[in-house]
Amino acid sequence: MDYAGYKDKLIREFKSFEQNDAVFKGYLNNIKSGRNVWLNANRAVERAGEKVSMMLRSIADSCPYDILRELTAEEYRFLFNYSANIGAMAQEITNQAADIYMNVKFPKIDDSRIDGLLEILLNDYNSNILLSTSEVFNDGIGYNIAQDGINELINYNSRLQDQAGFGTYMRRRTDGSCCKWCDSMADGNWYGKGEEPADFWRFHQNCTCWIEYKVNKRIDIVSYKTRNGKMSRT
Ligand SMILES: [Zn+2]
Repeated sequence: MDYAGYKDKLIREFKSFEQNDAVFKGYLNNIKSGRNVWLNANRAVERAGEKVSMMLRSIADSCPYDILRELTAEEYRFLFNYSANIGAMAQEITNQAADIYMNVKFPKIDDSRIDGLLEILLNDYNSNILLSTSEVFNDGIGYNIAQDGINELINYNSRLQDQAGFGTYMRRRTDGSCCKWCDSMADGNWYGKGEEPADFWRFHQNCTCWIEYKVNKRIDIVSYKTRNGKMSRT
């Protein structure tokens, strides 16, 4: 099979996943009905990340190296943007809940991050004396890129909303199945934009943490105007 053949196979498989995967569709329905939108957005994109990893594993043994390299880069870029789109659903609902009608902005993918991951991955693949294909194209990398899509979206939109004078708050959550380090990061506190602790945005491989975001309109309009000396709090 040539490049176009593999590409077509990947596109068809992902379409079928979107249409038929009940678990994935369940997460999306939860977002649409406003239930735990950030958790459900993260679970949805992790599911998509698993699928992309699985698809790459399924072609890795037969696919020529240069085609595999190109397709892997494309799939990860696709996954990042796809995840940002699912994050945007959560962001829109968060905005509406705060009565804020601001367009959701999409983050730009960090090409050097994708290139770096690709480098590690394909080095492992090339020296696969110790690693099997399934270990090279593991679900962990898919998770991380998928989580990046949402986290970059939160990072970008929270900065814009903060600059617009809204109150922006983030906290890191864990379902308790991650690790001790993550337990300490998920301390339950809400942090304002720019006040996040070091490592707040760091997700290790196979990390199942997620970032929750909320924005508040009223309180910050007061403090914004106060900061500009146009209105006093009294
Ligand atoms: Zn974690």
